[in-house]
Amino acid sequence: MGVHQKLESVKEQMANVRVVLVRPKYGENVGGAARVAYNMGISRLVVVAAELPEQGAMTKMATHHARDLITNLQLAPTLAQAVADCAWVVGTTARQGKHRFFLENPAKMVEHLLPKLRHNQVALVFGPEDCGLSNAELELCNATVTIPTADFSSLNLAQAVGVICYELFGALMAPKAGPAAAPALASSRVVAAMYDDLEKALVAIGYVREADLGYWRHNFSHFFNRIGLRSREVRFVKGLCQQIQWLAQGRPTRKRE
Ligand code: SAH
Repeated sequence: MGVHQKLESVKEQMANVRVVLVRPKYGENVGGAARVAYNMGISRLVVVAAELPEQGAMTKMATHHARDLITNLQLAPTLAQAVADCAWVVGTTARQGKHRFFLENPAKMVEHLLPKLRHNQVALVFGPEDCGLSNAELELCNATVTIPTADFSSLNLAQAVGVICYELFGALMAPKAGPAAAPALASSRVVAAMYDDLEKALVAIGYVREADLGYWRHNFSHFFNRIGLRSREVRFVKGLCQQIQWLAQGRPTRKRE
């Protein structure tokens, strides 16, 4: 495949990728992130915030090349909404706290992401400059990645976007044949609804108290997210939850077909 053809194929796959910036404080960082995302073939930028960051600061740093990303910037009120239709969500974090699960380095993260790219919407999620992504936001992620640093783990937001997007772009441009494409997976919205059903079922049988639900959701979301469930696997788990609830309510369970 020639370089031109390769670039076209990379752009096609990158069309399924969005960069999501959660509550960014500075318009300059949004502009800088837009620019480098565009450099790496990504054309979709979503900001999770109540209102758009300052336009002037964003466009100044985006330069005219990445202006389209700023013009077409999508605003979402929550991260859950920003990634609702995504089947693979990658969170980025500077910190390596004990509650952060399955931390990967950028190369490993890309290795797991690549096969999903062809048939799924994928999100690369970045946190606010001051505090990073919350634990609840990390629970929406299928993988969590940290960029190794020599000292002082925290990078500038736009630079972190650059490193992650470059890693993905580089892997897509590599001469070797990519991994076989994975099938379409269940979207974040569908999986979140499955977690709601699991919570209800666990409470219904008295296994988990309402007050402890946060702890349980944290654990099972990390377990299921890592796998990347298909739609019919989600239906299977939802069916189990339904049966558990029926039984807990003293109703006869559904007859097996
Ligand atoms: N003080 C914050 C740092 C936020 S920096 C904290 O402790 O989490 C803003 C964002 O840039 C982070 O939320 C993350 O998305 C990204 N980022 C910064 N440094 C990073 C690193 N070393 N690895 C991965 N992402 C990083």
